[in-house]
Amino acid sequence: MTDTRNTRTKLVHGGTRRSQYNEVSEAIFLTQGFVYDSAEAAEARFLESGPDEFIYARYGNPTVAMFEERIAALEGSEDAFATASGMAAVSGALMAMLSAGEHVVAARALFGSCLYVLEEILTRYGVEVTFVDGTDLDQWRSAIRNDTKAVFFETIANPTLEVVDIEGVAGLAHAVGAQVVVDNVFATPVFSRAIAQGADVVVYSATKHIDGQGRALGGVILGTREFIRGTIEPYMKHTGGSMSPFTAWVMLKGLETIDLRVRAQAASALALTDALQGHAKLKRVIYPGHSSHAQHELVARQMGKGGTVLSLDLAGGKAAAFRFLNALEIVLISNNLGDAKSIATHPATTTHQRLPDDQKSDLGITPGLIRLSAGIEDTDDLVDDVLQALAAA
Ligand SMILES: *Cc1c(COP(=O)(O)O)cnc(C)c1O
Repeated sequence: MTDTRNTRTKLVHGGTRRSQYNEVSEAIFLTQGFVYDSAEAAEARFLESGPDEFIYARYGNPTVAMFEERIAALEGSEDAFATASGMAAVSGALMAMLSAGEHVVAARALFGSCLYVLEEILTRYGVEVTFVDGTDLDQWRSAIRNDTKAVFFETIANPTLEVVDIEGVAGLAHAVGAQVVVDNVFATPVFSRAIAQGADVVVYSATKHIDGQGRALGGVILGTREFIRGTIEPYMKHTGGSMSPFTAWVMLKGLETIDLRVRAQAASALALTDALQGHAKLKRVIYPGHSSHAQHELVARQMGKGGTVLSLDLAGGKAAAFRFLNALEIVLISNNLGDAKSIATHPATTTHQRLPDDQKSDLGITPGLIRLSAGIEDTDDLVDDVLQALAAA
């Protein structure tokens, strides 16, 4: 597949490896290992294996390789390594690149498990971590030191949907030779241009938009060939967080439709935001792709569209938020996002329950806040459902 093809073509055909049967749909190679023609061939492959020469599924597998090549083509990165979950990707990328005594600067508004990796795990291994307000370039400027090895942030923070300026932070990080690692879940691989904008490493939870149908956990680390094969592959293959071939097949099929799904979801998220402007029961509606978002210009420049998630802050606090959730008929109460099914979450009592109250209010996680992940249902039906549930709230 040549690189000159457009995205949607690459998403259907990129990375395909056909067996001797010339199957149309990608095969699932559910095999842990591979047979060698001779002892000499085994010796040669262990000495040096080519891109389509496999040894053991923890190191690589044909179905997993198809997924890696397809997602790398979408992101515009040289290479990719598929992992067992999004957290295996986040922790693997950071653990593989950092050593004791090194310094990392990270945005404070992070997915709970990302915060745990930085605050509780890396520090136990002697990595120093400084947290900043990710939206404030001055804070990044003063926290990044000559010996900073990496910066880490979510390009759009969960659940308050604040946006970090990738080019701005990358400029500061690269000036001291630090690596820029971004968790890009909320931006989605469809709207991301993170590599072109200066990210050195991009990680995704494939559980979200890449599967997009709520079936499997997975993740992926994207970067230069040198970083993926030289730093990530040895770390992942020896620590065991590789993606299973069955999951890779689910994710490959997800990539075929991701562009169609995510664009439809983003259009519904924008339509919902429009329909909710000035609603009497809402203190605010947050959607990065809407002109009312404080960083709308940055969003337009950085990703064009605002992603698939919006947040609503109900004036009536927790009681009103719960009445709203319980009145929804189409939108499900759950905690995934990026799914074909629309999903609503009350972060203060679920995903962010463990945070102390002062940290919740610092991060804007108010008692009335609802995170709404737009699915691919009919837009008018979604708007009707949210409006009738607000009326009941
Ligand atoms: C879901 C998520 C993760 C973790 O992904 P898993 O696949 O659940 O391990 C990491 N970062 C962000 C921003 C997420 O939304």
